Amino acid sequence: MTTDTAYDLDHPVDDRYSPPPCGELEEIRAVLDDGRLSGGAQVLPLYERALAARFGAARAIAVNSGTSALHAALVAFDVRPGTEVLVPATAPLPTAMPILTCDATPVLVDTLPNSLALDPTDLQRKLTPRTRAVITLPLWGYPNDERAITGLLADAGIPVIEDAAQAHGTRIANQHAGTLGQVGCFSTHDRKLLSTGEGGFVLTNDHDLADRIDHYTHLGHLRGGHGVNYKLAGPLAAIGLRRLARLDAQLAQRRRNVERILTALPAAGLLRELPYGVQDKPNYYNLVLIATARQAEIADAFHRAGLPPDSIRWRYQPLYHQPLFQPYATACPNAEHLATATIQLPVHPQLSEATVAWIADQTARITQGETPA
Ligand SMILES: *Cc1c(COP(=O)(O)O)cnc(C)c1O
Repeated sequence: MTTDTAYDLDHPVDDRYSPPPCGELEEIRAVLDDGRLSGGAQVLPLYERALAARFGAARAIAVNSGTSALHAALVAFDVRPGTEVLVPATAPLPTAMPILTCDATPVLVDTLPNSLALDPTDLQRKLTPRTRAVITLPLWGYPNDERAITGLLADAGIPVIEDAAQAHGTRIANQHAGTLGQVGCFSTHDRKLLSTGEGGFVLTNDHDLADRIDHYTHLGHLRGGHGVNYKLAGPLAAIGLRRLARLDAQLAQRRRNVERILTALPAAGLLRELPYGVQDKPNYYNLVLIATARQAEIADAFHRAGLPPDSIRWRYQPLYHQPLFQPYATACPNAEHLATATIQLPVHPQLSEATVAWIADQTARITQGETPA
């Protein structure tokens, strides 16, 4: 593919995606006309059914954030003071903070080399009689193949909570991310592939679990039993319902942009895509490349080109480098390597063809050891 459009070098690449209008106003107007704007609005069950159908789960429960989704899932598995939750050391703060909200103890587990999947040896070592749940994480929308730990956890009776906040539409072993564990937690914050501004949802195939999470997040439906108010407001559910229909087109455009960049990537260079299985598919929240050598130099070259990787832009590092999680530090060399060796590139549909071509050029140059001026 070629383009004759000049590169727009005056404007830095914006990694935020705000989808073009797709009829959300009509959907919101219907909620206004109905008069109920709360989480009791008629659109809520419609949105929940659409989410369950789209992602192939028996049940979906809409909530007001991804953080709420994770907290409610942890509470449903009786995570409380004195219990432990295993979480990948690669996790960003929002994945693990809800464990602290429960006054439980986060136990950081290393990943396999060049992978987002948990290392079974390290996991086994860290399982205790106090372990109540494991959080797994398809970070950047990349598939995490957790088959190596599935049997082990089933034998120990430990449930899996997937933090699929960045993984709408990611496929793992031909299933949707968020449907492989006992419960999948999603965010619909503005930076996610499906956005309602703030919001989130939970997916599960377990009806009893779904009822408990629904109960907890809706003040126990005021029928006795403790709960919190994590309901998603009607107008936000209306936005989600309308935008959900556009998710497939968005995924397809992200894949086209990725192809454009990967086609230009020399096979013998220092960068390759973060690996995943043949039955897997990233949703391309980001295109993630991994440097096989000279990691710091390559990260710096992308930074100078105006494409800062997460390690520079967000100071992304294993969780125990964050002050809040320093007390839980353990050696996680693979997570450490992944944080410094990965380059996250924007590939969202708002990037022009010229911008994608420019990113492809920059990437090809850097992978051959050329650094930008
Ligand atoms: C965004 C995000 C969350 C939190 O979601 P909010 O809706 O912002 O509360 C949790 N985990 C991951 C991996 C995220 O990207």
